Amino acid sequence: MPAETTDFRSNDRNRQIVLKRRPHGAPVPEDFEANDGRIDAPQEGQVLMRTIYLSLDPYMRGRMNDGPSYAAPWGLGEPCQGRIVGEVVESRDSRFRPGDLAFSMGRFQQYCTVPADGVRKLDPAAAPLSTALGTLGFPGLTAYVGLANIGQPKAGETVVVSAATGAVGAVACQLAQAAGARVVGIAGGERKCAWLRDTLKLDAVIDHKVEEPGLALDRSCPEGIDVYFENVGGAWQDAAFARMRTFGRMVMCGMISGYNDTQARPGPNLVQTIVRRLRIEGFVVGDHAHRMQEFLDRAIPLLKAGRLHYLEDVVDGLEAAPAALIGLLEGRNFGKQVVKVGSDPTAS
Ligand code: NDP
Repeated sequence: MPAETTDFRSNDRNRQIVLKRRPHGAPVPEDFEANDGRIDAPQEGQVLMRTIYLSLDPYMRGRMNDGPSYAAPWGLGEPCQGRIVGEVVESRDSRFRPGDLAFSMGRFQQYCTVPADGVRKLDPAAAPLSTALGTLGFPGLTAYVGLANIGQPKAGETVVVSAATGAVGAVACQLAQAAGARVVGIAGGERKCAWLRDTLKLDAVIDHKVEEPGLALDRSCPEGIDVYFENVGGAWQDAAFARMRTFGRMVMCGMISGYNDTQARPGPNLVQTIVRRLRIEGFVVGDHAHRMQEFLDRAIPLLKAGRLHYLEDVVDGLEAAPAALIGLLEGRNFGKQVVKVGSDPTAS
């Protein structure tokens, strides 16, 4: 049985935190307001939960804005939303009974009435309840899918994780270690770095509060970076880009250092890789030379059928080559630039 008994019916208050106004830059306490709301009786297919733990996550900063993101903005004057662990106090769904301990999306409230379909029972014997919001929750899953789908660390590779003591980063570090990778963690301050060194026993640890990105990554990744698990962005991302190894993978998970920005930073906004789930992948054709025949088998029939048009800009004589090359770099060529150096026996 849960330690705390609940008599919500005698409790006519449902303490809640609402978003009072949208922050400009870093949020301040005045953006929020504590209210007393109602406890909504559950309808068919709903359960009423007493909130035990509420998760606070970086993505919430985006939900305070009105603009588009991957999660809808919080409504002004409405209780903020967040994931909760709670105790079921009333159920209108046969899968749940009062006393059940469970995870759900909820609100910043003492009591949350939620759809039963989104509620997942928790086994308190399996792990402390609060871990359902972090290591065994969506942050843990984030680390797992980021590495399984994109990072794919292999034994001996160097994996760098930013915000390495955070909910996502700590799991990413340990999953990469389990894959046999050499893991480098970046964190802010000695207390966090000591935990990465002493508890996680990472191969190298960087304190971003005192170290310079380029020098620190050169020191801890002398062979370069195979996998960069990005949680932070900014100067560290720039430095990591410059040190990625051939066929490296960047897991674009989050860029928390920019979440309070009020103006766009110079350069492309790589947060869009996350918001729109973009795939940005470089390639060099030489790695695919073995597919030339496959390409020709498709292209030659198209060309013969007049369905593959081509443009050529042919200049005459080898001496014309330098000017044509200079012109190409200025965009003066119209189609494929070719130099006709000698006679073509097939030309009519
Ligand atoms: P946590 O709240 O656990 O950790 C956040 C950490 O980020 C802080 O402890 C701090 O670590 C660092 N940090 C915070 N502000 C700044 C700043 N201004 N500059 C540099 N570092 C900062 O976060 P999570 O582990 O839950 O999330 C980590 C990242 O993953 C976030 O970017 C988040 O948005 C993203 N994420 C993405 C998901 C996805 O689906 N793509 C899902 C979940 C999270 P330190 O002091 O060590 O720098």
